[in-house]
Amino acid sequence: VAGAIGALSEVVGDAQRAAGATERLLELLAVQSPISSPAVPLPLPPRRANGSSLALDLVSFYYPSRPLTPAISNFSIAIKAGETVAVVGPSGAGKTSLFQLLLRFYDPQEGVIELDGVDIRQLDLHALRNTIGIVPQDTVIFSANAMENIRYGRPDASDEEVIAVAKMAAAHEFIDRLPEGYQSFLGERGVRLSGGQRQRIAIARALLKNPPLLLLDEATSALDAESERLVQSALEAAMVGRTTLVIAHRLATVQRAHRIIVMEHGHIVETGTHASLVAAGGLYASLAALQFGQH
Ligand code: ADP
Ligand code: MG
Repeated sequence: VAGAIGALSEVVGDAQRAAGATERLLELLAVQSPISSPAVPLPLPPRRANGSSLALDLVSFYYPSRPLTPAISNFSIAIKAGETVAVVGPSGAGKTSLFQLLLRFYDPQEGVIELDGVDIRQLDLHALRNTIGIVPQDTVIFSANAMENIRYGRPDASDEEVIAVAKMAAAHEFIDRLPEGYQSFLGERGVRLSGGQRQRIAIARALLKNPPLLLLDEATSALDAESERLVQSALEAAMVGRTTLVIAHRLATVQRAHRIIVMEHGHIVETGTHASLVAAGGLYASLAALQFGQH
């Protein structure tokens, strides 16, 4: 028996080594086809008052290290300028991957993504990423003062512009109340901010770019009622005059969306409003019962 187990563990070990080698090979291949700007990029269409339109047409994508597991499959959607779309789905559904594709951190193996009718692979990479404002799930607060922490969103912004977006993002009041106002040092060795305050800093940063397309990855952490109300009002201000895609975890956010898309295994499984999807009694209804019930 001991011999058999020894032989078996050897086989398993070999398989693991082989899998590891394959993974490294695939990573190597991925490195050899980096995301880059086209030699002659197309110009970005001029900024419109209500943001960008966005279209994904039969997009399929797998991470180069996991070719057998598509993260996004046959994904098609057309989003009008000014629309707010909430993306909902269980963990692993492909929500974050969708954002990664929009930002061109990866290119899909199949299908096309268009911003204002232009294939994003034909745009200058920096121009594309400058067009998109991102509010990540977890906000990094730098060891710097409040002014610099927001200005990070657009380094050439004036103090007045920083204060204006802080007001829109419902961050001005709490910053103003800090011992040294906008000069107060934040971060590990400075003023520690609450979760809701950090989110409002992130929203202010994103607003500073005045992006026609805003991608929000809503925090899952629970906020106290006052923070929740302030973050929601900041989000509301942030969505005006632009197209917004929000990975939503809160009832208030999905209720505000024009449309909810429900994802599972990289596919869109349902679309609708909160009321129509609850009535349909499908995946959304069970997710909503689980996640939104506690708030
Ligand atoms: P969600 O944001 O909906 O939880 P993700 O987009 O993060 O889902 O993940 C979709 C699928 O892609 C999952 O199977 C996940 O394990 C896989 N995945 C996510 N990121 C990576 C990565 N960097 N490399 C390989 N696989 C990944
Ligand atoms: Mg995610």
